[in-house]
Amino acid sequence: MKKVIILGAGFAGLHVFYKLRHLIGKKIDITVIDARSHSLLKPSLPEVAFEGDAISHSLVELKHTIESRNATFIQDEVINIDAKNNMLKLKSGANESYDYLFVTLGAVKDYDAVKGFKEYGYSVCDDTQAQRLWQRVKTFEGGKIVTGAAKSTWGTRVDAPPLLAPCEGPIGEIMFMLDYYLTEDKHLSREKDYKVDVFTPGEIFFEDVGDTPREVVGKYMQKRKIDLHNNKVLQEIGKDFIAFEDGTKMECDLAIIIPPYSAPQVLKDSNIGDEKGFIPTDKQMRHLDFDNIFAAGDITALAQPKLGHVAIIQGAIAAATLMKELGEDVEIPPHDLEVFCIMNMGGHDATMIVSDVLYGGKTDKALYSPISKMMKWGFDSYLYYNKGHMPPDFALEMTDKLVKMV
Ligand SMILES: Cc1cc2nc3c(=O)[nH]c(=O)nc-3n(C[C@H](O)[C@H](O)[C@H](O)COP(=O)(O)OP(=O)(O)OC[C@H]3O[C@@H](n4cnc5c(N)ncnc54)[C@H](O)[C@@H]3O)c2cc1C
Repeated sequence: MKKVIILGAGFAGLHVFYKLRHLIGKKIDITVIDARSHSLLKPSLPEVAFEGDAISHSLVELKHTIESRNATFIQDEVINIDAKNNMLKLKSGANESYDYLFVTLGAVKDYDAVKGFKEYGYSVCDDTQAQRLWQRVKTFEGGKIVTGAAKSTWGTRVDAPPLLAPCEGPIGEIMFMLDYYLTEDKHLSREKDYKVDVFTPGEIFFEDVGDTPREVVGKYMQKRKIDLHNNKVLQEIGKDFIAFEDGTKMECDLAIIIPPYSAPQVLKDSNIGDEKGFIPTDKQMRHLDFDNIFAAGDITALAQPKLGHVAIIQGAIAAATLMKELGEDVEIPPHDLEVFCIMNMGGHDATMIVSDVLYGGKTDKALYSPISKMMKWGFDSYLYYNKGHMPPDFALEMTDKLVKMV
């Protein structure tokens, strides 16, 4: 029996786990290790921050989920990966050996890299930040709101689109959902009481898609009087301002940002990442230097943008690559990435975006409709009630086909 360890039980790690579990006890033993007791479903965090939803609906308990499926769960932080000797060191002092390792550790949201964030900044990227933001939003009585993503930097070992922001979808949700809450629930006026401004480090906002989604987003920004500022690289958040690298400042009473993404310290310390710590893989998600290490999701150098949908595509490829190696009769799916996300815009409004122009394709769709909102609700609920298990492949493929027909 081969010993498989999955490091990190987020979107990618759980997807790998569900793809491999039919081999447990036949060909493999699986151990899942995560520092958290619960996996965090980040796509539903904007509902926590702007609609006051309970955080419990964004959490999937891990021990029972994993162990009821005949695998082992260890709640611990991995602090070293000795890839030459197939050995992991955990914070508790324990060591774990493996035959095959899946690195699905996600990316660190590096709030500390933004000067002034701790004192004055807000975000939506984790359970603590989303709940803290809701407390602020609830009591916000008006003023200037500025939102945007900080610039992230990536390594160069693999060929991936060099995006300046890891993913600007959440910024779309922040601006539209907050605007909806302030007008519809708090009855504040855009003209008199508050103003939302958005910045992007890129030349173009939503640089990972093509013109169609950008035009839809732009149209609704105009309608809601949200102004866009391009080429703004975040430098500092102050008590009543936000400052950029080009020397400009904007007045700001509420700054909501996506911080820079970085690789977890363990990967930098273990020397298995690229120059920024992200895992370099081939397109079958195998580590470029270590044959028995696979990776998927935000932690891979190939994942651009950092998106749950990309994590799922890569998780399926990584799992199939191992299955094939173990003699299973499977096809390894191609590494055909696309941007697929549903942007909640508050109330019944949402826009579903499907685009592969970033990777040279021709699909570039945006569906602004209450149907998109229903699909987001259905997808988030499915994930929650099925313990992080994705809807079956045929349902995902049907959704994909449906949107491409629009
Ligand atoms: C606000 C927000 C909204 C989003 N909305 C969408 C959306 O609508 N659609 C979409 O497709 N994507 C969305 N995304 C992106 C999506 O959430 C990520 O791309 C996805 O979570 C990546 O999955 P992952 O498994 O790679 O990493 P993660 O989900 O981050 O999981 C990594 C896991 O590794 C664990 N871990 C990390 N370090 C260690 C360590 N040293 N030891 C042990 N365990 C460790 C963590 O605890 C975590 O459980 C959103 C992101 C944010 C922030």
